[in-house]
Amino acid sequence: MNKEKNKQIAEIDDAYFMLQAIKEAYKAKKVKEIPIGAVIVKDKKIIARGFNKCITLSDPTAHAENVALRKAAKKLKNYRLNNCSIYVTIEPCTMCMGALLNARIEKIVFGAFYKKVGVCDEGICKANVCKKLNHKTEVNGGKEEYLSTRCSNIIKSFFKERRIENRKRRGLLSCEIAMGGGEWGSTGTIDVMTAGRS
Ligand SMILES: [Zn+2]
Repeated sequence: MNKEKNKQIAEIDDAYFMLQAIKEAYKAKKVKEIPIGAVIVKDKKIIARGFNKCITLSDPTAHAENVALRKAAKKLKNYRLNNCSIYVTIEPCTMCMGALLNARIEKIVFGAFYKKVGVCDEGICKANVCKKLNHKTEVNGGKEEYLSTRCSNIIKSFFKERRIENRKRRGLLSCEIAMGGGEWGSTGTIDVMTAGRS
């Protein structure tokens, strides 16, 4: 098989696994978590899936990558995930990158850059820890073959919807106050309206 053919197959595999990570991101969206999803792959098979569960679990470390990492390690009965790759919809943060490197993940593929918290830049890990480790992890992402636009659109639309919901809630709240509603009741009498504005 020639080199070009191998590259094409690798790209198809990458797109397939990223689609599976996107599927996980939608699960997060459904439960109003920030929609980021991840899958861990070994020997071309998905061994673990995860999506953001910080709110659900009241756990600040429950990012999609960590959720998937814990499941994969449990499955393999090994805290080292040798020869495993992770596909995650958004560029990993410092915490997740640290965990992925500690787990000896072989390849990290992310969908879209996340400038605010991401630690990768043009495929190069910026986390200082990378330079100090002997283990080499391949980091790749932000490219169309990794469905980057789809990955970023999920998160963008999530925040947009959340802003609209918040505005609506604020609008409703001021409306309730004006009507003397909310915690003061909803009779709309002058007295209650005055109480609502105080
Ligand atoms: Zn993270």
